[in-house]
Amino acid sequence: MGFRLANVADRAVLVEGDEYFDVAELSDELSAELGDGRLGPDPMQAIAAPGVLADLSAALRSIGRVPTGSIRDVVLGPPVPRPQKVFAIGLNYDAHAKENGRDPSTSPVVFTKFPSCLVGPTHDVEMRGDGCDYEVELVVVIGRGGKDIAPERAWDHVVGVMAGQDISDRPAQMAATPPHFSLGKSFDTFGPTGPVLVSTDLLADRDDLRVTTAVNGEVRQDGRTSDMIFDVPTLISFLSHITTLCTGDLIFTGTPEGVGVAQGRFLADGDVITTTIEGIGTMTNRCVRVSDAMRFGS
Ligand code: ZN
Repeated sequence: MGFRLANVADRAVLVEGDEYFDVAELSDELSAELGDGRLGPDPMQAIAAPGVLADLSAALRSIGRVPTGSIRDVVLGPPVPRPQKVFAIGLNYDAHAKENGRDPSTSPVVFTKFPSCLVGPTHDVEMRGDGCDYEVELVVVIGRGGKDIAPERAWDHVVGVMAGQDISDRPAQMAATPPHFSLGKSFDTFGPTGPVLVSTDLLADRDDLRVTTAVNGEVRQDGRTSDMIFDVPTLISFLSHITTLCTGDLIFTGTPEGVGVAQGRFLADGDVITTTIEGIGTMTNRCVRVSDAMRFGS
């Protein structure tokens, strides 16, 4: 039994259709059955207890409980608001590597996004330059942490997946040699995630999901996660042989072809980015041009 987890005002909620149910309230109500498995409101506590979330989801379906509210009436936050680590993978799709004039790498290209860049699925993207770009990515959320994880066991360490946008300020990214990916992709608001965290048992095929980005309704990226060069199990295994993976760690798994920099088309003030991943949902983020970043070397 799976679940869809979201964040409303920094409280964990379970989503069924358009309705949401507060996890802490539900947990209190069902405390007799849950015993030690009771959950408070913290989303980070919730993702550490997927078994309880699945039980709560099953229970609320069976008892026909009155929802806390409708997700149409609230602003959703990032489902995982405070991860310890946020990894991101560059050039993980053949066609995207080629559009950047690069040969596919023989080893994963890894950088980090600082957790402070994370925002929810409808939050504005604040651009401090004119060279900002979109990248739709499947975001994997680590459930049970681990070290030296074998690829065959890797999905067991995933609590769920989300849609993500790996927003980049390309001039900031390329301002130094070698480029500093982590800074250029970690401006505040450059990590929209959501709309919900979906447990993988609710997906038709967790290894083959359609991922798209549209800008102002025009489809710019349309790929499938089965085209990744390094698939999710390989990425988890690779990273876990370097650093211990912890509950809540995120992996942005790379983007397919169609990014703006390859076409000379960057995001502009007022643009609306629509990001959809099959089986997960859609995020809608408006771009807002704000004050310029401090720039060097130009
Ligand atoms: Zn990316």
